[in-house]
Amino acid sequence: MEAGNTMLYIQARVVTPNKVIEEGAVVVANGRITAVAAASSLPPPPTAQVIQSPNYVLVPGFIDLQLNGAFGHDFTQHPETIWQVATQLPRYGVTSFLPTIITSPLVTVPLAQQVLGQRPAAFRGAEPLGLHLEGPFINPQKKGAHNPHHIQLPTLEAVAGWQPEAYVRLVTLAPEMPGAMAVIAALSAQGVIVSAGHSLATFAIAGASFEAGVRYGTHLFNAMLTLHHREPGLAGALLADKHTVIGIIPDGIHVHPALLKLVWQTAAPRLNVVTDAMAALGMPPGTYDLGGFSVTVDETTCRLPDGTLAGSILSMDTAVRNLITYTGCTLAEAMTTVTTIPANLLGLGQHKGHIAPGYDADLVLLTPALHIAMTIVNGQIIYQQPNHET
Ligand code: ZN
Repeated sequence: MEAGNTMLYIQARVVTPNKVIEEGAVVVANGRITAVAAASSLPPPPTAQVIQSPNYVLVPGFIDLQLNGAFGHDFTQHPETIWQVATQLPRYGVTSFLPTIITSPLVTVPLAQQVLGQRPAAFRGAEPLGLHLEGPFINPQKKGAHNPHHIQLPTLEAVAGWQPEAYVRLVTLAPEMPGAMAVIAALSAQGVIVSAGHSLATFAIAGASFEAGVRYGTHLFNAMLTLHHREPGLAGALLADKHTVIGIIPDGIHVHPALLKLVWQTAAPRLNVVTDAMAALGMPPGTYDLGGFSVTVDETTCRLPDGTLAGSILSMDTAVRNLITYTGCTLAEAMTTVTTIPANLLGLGQHKGHIAPGYDADLVLLTPALHIAMTIVNGQIIYQQPNHET
């Protein structure tokens, strides 16, 4: 990967996010963060490009673990569009992401693996960290917007080549399906994060799946048993467990804001905000593709003709602002859900998700209203809000 060799000096309110430096400064060189301190004790190096925005906030770049496509492109139908979409994602503060392939013929997976293996020369954009395979081993009764014709029972043969080295990072499956527990164990041993989702798992089955290796829950409350006081199901098991990370879509539609607040009060240190955005993100209302289905998109919502929710048009920066609005949390707290928590889940917490010396220079400069002013990936300024002057 080509690292930015420009040296940057950014003066802003720095949210690392574990620590807040009110009048802070960050130095970036060769794609890495080299210094973080109070601006008063850290003068700009003579050769650095100086970005002085003391009223703005510098945070780590956002990591989206569930993104189906954007800008008119659907990754499941057209995996070859991943790199193209990636070039535009920094406008939402996204510096790395998991392109998500939903239930489709199994041959889609090697196609997508191949695409990720062929990094375009001089690529500049949000870094795809590997695939999130959401399906095809899901429960047909919780298919959501997935095509039931392509749903399969999990087998060890099918997942033999799924590992981070071959660009598979996260797999969502339904643990109650026959054969799933063995596949959970195998994928975990191969270094893949396994998630429970699109599932009718009871509380007991969910607990057994955590024992087998499941460490994540895909879009809490959506496509799982409704939380019931006598059968808490997968949702209740995720909330009660202390070790799993919980994915959630804060668009105000997939989960009621009041329930999101309750989840926050229960499980904030394990919450991971995802967009689950689809091809219509960044596009006007209309009809778009999701995994081969036609989806009608208005100003807020994406639905199949029968009304089933089919992904979102939520951008990552909107997701962060929504989380703060719905829960009343601080910016630093909101930041953990899109930086340290996903980075740690993927085992990348030693170089992504945090502003500290030695970390990848994936940074977002936010305006006081928390809109994206600038996005830096790997030490290079990839996006700059048109009227933002540095
Ligand atoms: Zn889903």
